[in-house]
Parts: sequence; structure tokens; C-alpha cells
Amino acid sequence: MGSMTRRAAALLTALSVLGCGATGEPSQGATGSDSGPTDTAEPGVGAPGIGDPDFPLDGNGGYDVAHYALRIGYAPARRRLDGEATIQARATQALSRFNLDLRGFTVGGVSVDGAAATFTRKGDELSVTPAEPLARGAEFAVKVAYSGTPRPVRGSSNLGTYGFIPTADGAFVTAEPNGAKTWFPGNDHPADKATFDFEITVPAGVTALANGELVSRTAAPGGGTTFTWREAHPMATYLATATMGRFTLREGRTAGGIRSLAAVDPRFSSALGELYRRSGEITDHWVTVFGPYPFSSTGGVVDDFSAGYALENQTKPMYGGFEPGESIIAHELAHQWFGNSLSIERWEDLWLNEGFATYAEWLWSEHTGGDTAAQRFKTAHARPANDPIWSYPPGDARPGDLFNESVYTRGAMTLHALRREIGDRAFFTLLKTWAAEHRHGNVTTEQFTALAERLSGKRLGSLFDAWLFQPRRPSA
Ligand SMILES: [Zn+2]
Repeated sequence: MGSMTRRAAALLTALSVLGCGATGEPSQGATGSDSGPTDTAEPGVGAPGIGDPDFPLDGNGGYDVAHYALRIGYAPARRRLDGEATIQARATQALSRFNLDLRGFTVGGVSVDGAAATFTRKGDELSVTPAEPLARGAEFAVKVAYSGTPRPVRGSSNLGTYGFIPTADGAFVTAEPNGAKTWFPGNDHPADKATFDFEITVPAGVTALANGELVSRTAAPGGGTTFTWREAHPMATYLATATMGRFTLREGRTAGGIRSLAAVDPRFSSALGELYRRSGEITDHWVTVFGPYPFSSTGGVVDDFSAGYALENQTKPMYGGFEPGESIIAHELAHQWFGNSLSIERWEDLWLNEGFATYAEWLWSEHTGGDTAAQRFKTAHARPANDPIWSYPPGDARPGDLFNESVYTRGAMTLHALRREIGDRAFFTLLKTWAAEHRHGNVTTEQFTALAERLSGKRLGSLFDAWLFQPRRPSA
């Protein structure tokens, strides 16, 4: 995420972990779907959270999602969403019941493997009891029919609004950190990534933009249009989008041959050419710095909803109500590697997304003849001793203030301090190796620091401790 006015989160996480007996950890023993009669484990209840201590009810335990098939009908004039989500998953424990995250809506029915299931709602948790318990290792499909008016998350004033946000002509859909539940049921935490199919039906004249590639665009009964999109690479739920409205599009390929799509609300039509060209140029440049592009296309979308921020939605960064400059484009496209292909396992490691994307802004400046990264580092380090970034260690992003500027700026400073310590050659090898070894996976800070030590042959514990974990300004 990039900010016009840096937003800070104030998420309420006072709730304790409920039903902590089950976790999302895969069990040893039976694998595959043929656990059969030898699996005598008593079916249990899947945990209501995936195990992120800072966000105890985000995601769920007991299963891993492989694929979401989302059928969405949306009528902007009535703000009415009709949805049918089919979720392919695998049970990681024997399950008598499991949860999905869903906020609002009326649930019309739930089935598991075609058999009607019973369900209950509490807060943003949808608890599903299949007709028959699921064996550990079983692959299953849960289908949820739901409808109503989407309610985006409107937190405190500094949190902003996120999720499925209705606009005059459609919707602006940006869901970090946990707003996917405002438009589809799922396992809403980046630790459980999955592939996606989207089938979105909108009124005539409205364009629906989702992640990945457009598979088809067909006339729908009643005069609307159905847009079918497919994201074939694993994706965190918060990066999914179904942004709708009147859009002007430009499509093609970057000079390096990557498919690209830029789209702008008519209010920003003058920005289309620059968005398209810059996004292509920067994507191609990041390939030389970070390694092969992890997805099937690049690009960007400018909508007229004044979010005040941009989000790195997979393959289609969203810019909310402003013409993006090259620095924020460089930031959002760097996230395609760091944040999207490599997703964090828990939110406290958010600097692995934002520190890297902010450092990418510095690298882009350096590349284009502006300030060097060293100059940016020096300027930041010269901030007064009482600047808030020194008292907020970026390696432990706080749930109530997730998008603190320290996670961005001091996160980037951490990378620059590392670069100085191990030298350019090892540093840039590290960036590419990090992106390659964990492509389409999940990562932790410990994995990054271990790789940095392995590649550089240096002990870096005190450097990372000072920059990531101490509540004071490290010496330069
Ligand atoms: Zn960002």
C-alpha cells in the first residue's frame, strides 16, 4: 500500500483467541484425500482464526484454500450484490465444523460437496457444519450463496475506508488488511493464498476489472455484461479486486513483452497514457533488479474514489482518486514481487512488504538520476531524535497502527543499512534470490535475515536487531 496521506490503522484486536485447540498448522500423518478408516482422529472444530496473534479472528484454522470461484452480480444504482462463492479447500485436520470470514450480507444457503450444510453467524465469522464431518486431508468444496449491500470497513479516521467500496458508477475494491470479507466469504488472511476465478455481471456500460487475465466478456440476460477473469497464480485475499465502473482502457505489452492493462475513470482520462507507459517501463526495470515478473500481466487502475491511497492489487494496482506519479507506481509495482508473490505469514512482518516497496522508490529515484538511496537514507536518518519512527520498531508492526510510517521509511532504511554492510553485489543478489526462492509463497522476517547471512557470509544479528526491533534511532 502506498499513501497520499499515510494512513494508520487502529484495528481493534482486544478479543482473545477463541477455541485455541486447533490451529492452521498441517498435521503430520495422513496426507491426500484417502485417509479413510485408519484416520481415527475425532473430528474437531476449526479455529476461528488462522493463528496470527495480532489479528486473532482473521482467517481460520483447519483447512487450506486452493481456489475461489466467485460469481458476483452487482447493481451500482441499488448497491446490491448477489454472490455465489465456491471454495475448494483441503482439511488439515478432521473437521466437524469450520469457519469462513464474511462481513454483513444475508446468507441464503451453504453446501459442502453438494450437500446442504447448517451454518451460524457471529460477528464476521460464518460457522459451517457439513452434513458429514470432513476427514483430515479431505479435499472439499464449500458453496455459499449470499446477497445484500456491501459494507466496507470504516475504522477510525486514520484507518480510512477499505474493502468493497460502492462508488457512483460501480465499486472501488481494495481490501488490505482484512477487507476481502466485505465482498466474499473466505479465509481472509495472507497466510492462505489461492487461485481465483471471477465471474462478474454488471449493467451495460460498466466495466468490471479483476485480477489476472480477462477470459471472456459476454452479454448477460437482461442487458448487462458478464466479465470473466482468472488469476492463475496464488493470491492473498486482500489483493483480490472486482473494481467496477466506467473505464477507459489501454492494453498491450511492455517493451519487455509483459502483458499490460491500464484503466482510468473518465475523470482521469488524461492520465491514461502516462499510467500505461510508466507502469510498463517500471515493471520492465524491476525485472532487471528483482528477477522475472511473477504474474501474467502488469498495469494499473485509477478510479475516482478518493481513497487517498493506492493498493498493490495483484496484477492491477489501484490508485484511489489521484493521478499517480512515478514514485508511487514504482512502489506498487515493486509490491508485485514483495507482498504479492512473496506474502507475509503474519502482519507483524509487514516491513517485508512496505520497507521493500519504499526502498524501491529510492532505487527508482537513484535509477532516474534523482536522489540516490544513500541520500534518502541520510535525510531520513537526520530526523530528530524524538521523531516517531525511532520509537516504533518496524520489525514488529502493531495491529492498532499497522501502516505506521516507520514500517515504510525505517523498513527501507533497514535495507539500505544492510546494503552498506554487505555491499551492492551481495545485496542485489539477495533481492533476486529472496524473490526466486519464495516465489508465490509465504515469508517471515527470520527467513529473510537468515538468507542475508547465508549469502553475505556475515553475522547480521545486531544490525537487524538495531534497525528492526529497538525503540531508538540506530547509529548510522
Ligand atoms: Zn505499499
